[in-house]
Amino acid sequence: LVTHTRSAQVVVIGGGQAGLAAGYHLRRLGLDFVILDAQAEPGGAWQHAWDSLHLFSPAAYSSLPGRPMPVQTGETYPEAGHVVGYLTEYERRYELPVHRPVRVLGVHRDGALLHVETDSGGWRAQAVISATGTWWRPFLPAVPGRAEFVGRQLHTVEYRSPRDFAGQRVIVVGGGNSGAQIAADLAYDTELTWVTQRPPRFLADDIDGRALFDVATARRRALDEGRTDTEGVMSLGDIVAVPPVREARDAGLLKVSPMFVRLDRDGIVWADGTRAPADAVIWCTGFRPALSHLAPLGLRGPRGHIPTAGTRALGEPRLHLLGYGDWTGPASATLIGVGRPARDAAREIAELLMSGG
Ligand code: FAD
Repeated sequence: LVTHTRSAQVVVIGGGQAGLAAGYHLRRLGLDFVILDAQAEPGGAWQHAWDSLHLFSPAAYSSLPGRPMPVQTGETYPEAGHVVGYLTEYERRYELPVHRPVRVLGVHRDGALLHVETDSGGWRAQAVISATGTWWRPFLPAVPGRAEFVGRQLHTVEYRSPRDFAGQRVIVVGGGNSGAQIAADLAYDTELTWVTQRPPRFLADDIDGRALFDVATARRRALDEGRTDTEGVMSLGDIVAVPPVREARDAGLLKVSPMFVRLDRDGIVWADGTRAPADAVIWCTGFRPALSHLAPLGLRGPRGHIPTAGTRALGEPRLHLLGYGDWTGPASATLIGVGRPARDAAREIAELLMSGG
């Protein structure tokens, strides 16, 4: 058992894109920091994406602060493996002090400091940035009969390739991007039923991550200037029509069924009693922020979020939250969007340390 405790001015929890962006700005400000990451290798959640996953945006719109993402030869929208390569190179280039695999178990108040408890010793810090993402907390809705179904059930995070389901009767649940992309992936070689709670809302074919980022930025500006909320990207639709989704949709392979009311032994059952037998159900039903390590601080607010002003936790000024979703800054869960909140968090922490807080 390792019990020693080390010190740093700032501990960043999570070494995915958000943690690295934080590291970039902490380094620029000359702060003493470490990044603790539970993964054995660089790349955060991108290491675990399904085989066909492509970014929503071209490389030029997918860069962290500093070094731009290089173009992937032959691909307008880079693949997940390309992002892993980029993040690996990024942390090397900026000599970011990432310790892995190190899992943070809890963050505790310790007088003027915060104590970060890990599976390999502790860290004392004057400030903490939590950047642990959402991939690690898959959400499954409480649907009756889920335990009765004898077929295979998996969440987005466990899906890899249509090869694993060839010829099978597969139910894909969920009308977001993961659901649409996985349904498109399975549309050719399986007997697919795509189920969504409300009719899927495809964004116009010419809207990709670039336009989404511009809309999110315009929304931020409108809110900053006290103008009416444009509702940002939510007003446009839910699903980016990336090329594979568009192709499957245009080939008429992406028909949707309404949400079912229960599962039974053999498959799903709709409200009118109609059934669809199935070999597998894939739950593309989203994620929640991975925040259990912050539970000792007692900061949890509505919907599992921690209330913040910008990135700073309202109930604990030494703690910042980065990534996760728009609640920690516009587009902060994206490569291109996380740079600005990362910079703001690093600056606020530098000011806090200078004031002796
Ligand atoms: P992660 O990448 O999840 O990194 C968090 C890290 O923290 C991980 O390494 C994790 O192991 C570690 N960690 C977690 N808990 C602990 C702990 N207790 N202790 C220590 N370490 C811990 N984003 C884009 O920018 N552009 C896109 O085009 C895009 N397309 C997407 C398409 C789909 C279909 C999906 C599902 C997502 C897409 N995303 C896109 C989103 C992107 O995948 C995530 O938002 C991104 O990975 C979040 O980065 P992060 O650094 O916040 O979290």
